[in-house]
Amino acid sequence: MQAAHAAFPAWAALSYAERGDMLRKVAAAITRDMEEVERRAAIFTREHGKILFETRLEISRLGHRFEQAADYGDRLARDELLKAAPNDTIITRQPRGVAALVVPWNWPLAILGAKLPQALMAGNTVVVKPSANSALAPTMTLHRIAEMLPPGVVNILTGSASRIGDAIIGHPLVRYVNFTGSVDVGRHVMKVAAENITPVTLELGGNDAGIVCHDADLTGDAFQRLYRASFMSTGQICFALKRLYVHKSRFDEVAEGMTTALNSQVIGDGLLPETTMGPLNNAKQLKVVTDMIAQARAKGQDVQELGQVSDEALYTGGGYFQKPTLVLNADPDLDVVRQEQFGPVLPIMAFEEEADAIAMANDDQFGLASSIWTEDRDRAVLLARQIEAGYSFVNAHGPSAQDGNGPFGGFKKSGIGRNFGYEGVTQFQGYHSISGAPGSLIA
Ligand code: NAP
Ligand code: MG
Repeated sequence: MQAAHAAFPAWAALSYAERGDMLRKVAAAITRDMEEVERRAAIFTREHGKILFETRLEISRLGHRFEQAADYGDRLARDELLKAAPNDTIITRQPRGVAALVVPWNWPLAILGAKLPQALMAGNTVVVKPSANSALAPTMTLHRIAEMLPPGVVNILTGSASRIGDAIIGHPLVRYVNFTGSVDVGRHVMKVAAENITPVTLELGGNDAGIVCHDADLTGDAFQRLYRASFMSTGQICFALKRLYVHKSRFDEVAEGMTTALNSQVIGDGLLPETTMGPLNNAKQLKVVTDMIAQARAKGQDVQELGQVSDEALYTGGGYFQKPTLVLNADPDLDVVRQEQFGPVLPIMAFEEEADAIAMANDDQFGLASSIWTEDRDRAVLLARQIEAGYSFVNAHGPSAQDGNGPFGGFKKSGIGRNFGYEGVTQFQGYHSISGAPGSLIA
């Protein structure tokens, strides 16, 4: 913490162009050496479970976010000038100081990319706390990044959250907390931060609804897009599609299309090229998901566990595997509908009127993302505007369709504040108005 605090004044004093140049060099260093990328992706897959395609994607996303943050340099450098009686006022923004960045295990490098480059571009120094469930790949990557920047600008603290979490969040030198994780820990983090009146951004869970309208185009790769929307990273994505509402005229087609898409998946070791879905990351998350599936079964629901297993002995050998699963015509009171599953199971429900679909989508504690599937552009925007969510996709859903220039975050229990985009940088700053007599400050 002291190292980050000591490095702050010099880092904050650099121009946006100077910091941007360094961020671009970091982006190149972590993404361009393909041999090194492959080595890190393999380590990441071994520690996490997710398939190589996904760990490679996270590494490239992280690099891209460094470039994206650097690209905001010119816009960030522009102050707002108020030249009007009674005063000349320059409205500027300045960095806050040491930012604590807390990263969960599910998308550790991509989520680092939602906050680290932005905090640095804004002029803050950082202390990063990765999750003990996936600390190795982030730590290796952060070492590489830290080496390329002045000493003390990027720091990492690993260890069990119960021992070091509060010490980081509640530290008097921490001037901003950016947390991604669960609602319960987010609530706790907010309370600890309140002690020093430290502002927080919280990116918490989601229970994202998708609405397939009567006119949706379900040809081409539509079911692949729907599959990825929900099952990428074995469903362990905060803004994965987690509830699918389908117009009753298209329900059978969607159930059949999704069944085919799930059946073509190969579940197994993420290092093997034929594997399309790895295990869950940890025993706790596996239990959340299998409990939800068991509850649906116990209630006599239409539960379909699908997909091929590449190696039966491996699958049944104690790993955290779960085949991709559908719950068709799901009862709206099931846990898998009401709660965040964060795993490879998707409930699909029919609706008659769009207004009912919107009401069901909004009848939820979360408000992270959503998706509208329709051929009609006006309908898409009209429906999206009615959904309580911080981000809505049209005819897609999830990380592969996300525009990193758009602010991202949630309503309701999905959190406070926005990561990504220009706003994702300025959240790490505070406004500062500099005012003087007319004519004294602004030519
Ligand atoms: P979690 O248990 O809340 O943990 C999140 C992070 O907080 C981990 O690094 C954890 O460390 C750390 N932590 C725990 N207690 C802390 C404390 N007292 N002070 C500081 N840090 C503390 O969540 P998770 O199980 O890792 O992740 C799953 C949840 O995250 C899901 O609900 C998911 O929706 C949400 N999520 C949200 C987003 C989003 O952008 N909205 C993105 C991804 C995930 P340890 O792991 O070492 O305990
Ligand atoms: Mg759910």
